[in-house]
Amino acid sequence: MSSRRQFLTAAATVLGAGALSACNKKEETASVAASAQEKITWKMVTSWPANFPGLGTGAIRIADYINQLSGGRLTVKVFAAGELVGALEVFDAVSAGTAQLGHSGAYYWKGKSRAAQFFSSVPFGLTAQEMNAWLFYGDGMKLWEETYQPFGLIPGAGGNSGTQMGGWFNKEINSVADFKGLKMRMPGLGGEVIQRLGAIPVNLPGGEIFTALQSGAIDATEWVGPYNDQAFGLHKAAKNYYAPGWHEPGTTMECMMNEKAYNALPADLQAIVKAAIRLVNHDMLAEYTARNQLALHELETQHGVKAKSFPDDVLRELKKLSDAVLDEEAAKDPLSQKVWASQKVFRDSVAPWTAIAEGAIINARKL
Ligand code: CA
Repeated sequence: MSSRRQFLTAAATVLGAGALSACNKKEETASVAASAQEKITWKMVTSWPANFPGLGTGAIRIADYINQLSGGRLTVKVFAAGELVGALEVFDAVSAGTAQLGHSGAYYWKGKSRAAQFFSSVPFGLTAQEMNAWLFYGDGMKLWEETYQPFGLIPGAGGNSGTQMGGWFNKEINSVADFKGLKMRMPGLGGEVIQRLGAIPVNLPGGEIFTALQSGAIDATEWVGPYNDQAFGLHKAAKNYYAPGWHEPGTTMECMMNEKAYNALPADLQAIVKAAIRLVNHDMLAEYTARNQLALHELETQHGVKAKSFPDDVLRELKKLSDAVLDEEAAKDPLSQKVWASQKVFRDSVAPWTAIAEGAIINARKL
């Protein structure tokens, strides 16, 4: 050993710095190879109950893909809401590095940054397809990164529920007057919109909706769509099921990362993490599409539910009020203004294509 070192020293002296640097390079390569084999464990906190269908199982799927694609070099342990931190503490936990990943919905973080709510879904906003187009082939992702950067977070689109349902009502909705005095569980900007029709928006966590609707504490509720709504038994508490979910036309879930933890990963693991999140972003939409239609069929054939559409003049009024609420909300700070302006321009420019493509084929199938 010592004679080898003596030889290297002598060789370096004879051959000059070139040989020495080649030798150092070899050692460097060996240490990179060693760190590439290092096993890393990450935590993912979520806003969902354990194994919650669609949202929770989607988060678990991201972790599974990371574990498999990395050959076990990066293991992600998933925590349901309340196991490590509460449902609405996900943002802070990932920002602080308590967990490296967080699966949630950006509209929960309005209190951190108002602009965040534009990255989940807004009334009469983008569909799932259009949202992905804006995020990945428009300015969406760049603006989301700008919004989360001050918190040491890197955002990721980590799933989409597709178009939600307009909700369950204990009476028919035939005109805007039917919203007057209606106590409806509808959080966020949608709640703000129905308030302008005289409704009383109520914010309740998912687990409390059924009891509130059945006891008459609320007259109506929105939740997600047939798959998740049926699981909560909402059809047992109200029979009038309305479409469309004008308030959530295509809700993006998020999988955010702690920036420092992400930057510390080797490049191949960084690529795996991003790929797994993106994969589930698309996979969740496929799952919801498949399961929603099965659940709707069951609700209609076995539980006497008849899905109805809101009358056109109700939707027209809701849209008018939504545009006003969104413009007012965005005007409250410059970043929100910038994000909403970008999304609004994208929505209005993609709408003719969506109508001529998917809209037209959907109409044609009814002929
Ligand atoms: Ca909803």
